[in-house]
Amino acid sequence: RVSAEDDNDSGRVRVAVRLRPKNAEELDLDLTGCVELQTEFKRLKLKKNNWSSESYKFDEVFTESASQKRIYEAVAKPVVESVLDGYNGTVMAYGQTGTGKTYTISRIGKDDPSERGIMVRALEDIFAKRSSSFDIVAISYLQLYLESIQDLLAPEKTNIPIVEDPRTGEVSLPGAAVVQIKDLDQFMGLLQIGEANRHASNTKLNTESSRSHAVLVVHVHRSLEGKKETDVSSLTNGNDLTSHHVPYISKSKLLIVDLAGSERIDKSGIEGHMLEETKFINLSLTSLGKCINALAENSSYIPTRDSKLTRLLRDSFGGTARTSLIITIGPSAPYYSETASTILFGQRAM
Ligand code: ADP
Ligand code: MG
Repeated sequence: RVSAEDDNDSGRVRVAVRLRPKNAEELDLDLTGCVELQTEFKRLKLKKNNWSSESYKFDEVFTESASQKRIYEAVAKPVVESVLDGYNGTVMAYGQTGTGKTYTISRIGKDDPSERGIMVRALEDIFAKRSSSFDIVAISYLQLYLESIQDLLAPEKTNIPIVEDPRTGEVSLPGAAVVQIKDLDQFMGLLQIGEANRHASNTKLNTESSRSHAVLVVHVHRSLEGKKETDVSSLTNGNDLTSHHVPYISKSKLLIVDLAGSERIDKSGIEGHMLEETKFINLSLTSLGKCINALAENSSYIPTRDSKLTRLLRDSFGGTARTSLIITIGPSAPYYSETASTILFGQRAM
């Protein structure tokens, strides 16, 4: 077991907890809180009632007033830096619907840059640290729903397969759009398109976006510095990132994941398609929990084959990859049991 102070622990999942501020309704109803944070000790106290509470330690705890910038710097930036060093990495948010996963991960913040979430800040950082104009940044943006992968940048593409190279273990998604990114504006435009497509497809299927996982894949290819201009022209033709001639010193990828809501779904009265859905939603999250647990226990076997989500993450967590998990919770007592279950998920990762 590695101590929380050890900063260089690839393989281990680092877990941060973020508390959402009370929303208008919670303030209105003057709901009792059930969470107390002791930031200096990185501890969270969860109160069941006036007589009983539990205390938990995390790698980081963030109060309701923590800024988007602080969250990014503490949780995601180390992963981004390690991706720029050539390792794969994953940042994901887990929690009950309404606790701030999307706010934390995929907020675009068009009008207010201080609101920008992890996706935008990560790309901003990657662009700032590009050592030369020869480095390639490209993205895919996908939605995983009912164990089926849909392209959020090209929504007509559904049922995208996950393929693993038997030799290198590299995971790829044949058919998914891979878009080369020139600047942050272009990236924010694509995020917006992805978001709109997520809404549209969920409206069409009559489902809620809280039931699907959204996955941004950021490919970073760093070339040998000092390459001549002429070698680069072949890169910019087309989207195929593998068939050009410039030698790369590193190819790595960053996965940023806005997970489906973790709330247990009440199965009573649900049948047919809907029951099938709840089974699949739970499958991915349950399977993720098992993998995270196996990593925490330093197990030699990580059961990544059980769900699409974990197959997708397979080459980007554990091993040399760096992984951060942000668990998001609400402050109010009526959600005590969902909050407790989210906290236990986070604890099992440590
Ligand atoms: P989730 O994706 O987990 O369902 P959202 O990110 O959609 O939750 O958050 C639910 C609501 O709470 C949104 O209106 C969001 O803007 C707001 N919210 C969440 N976290 C914060 C925060 N840290 N500060 C301010 N507002 C927040
Ligand atoms: Mg959401």
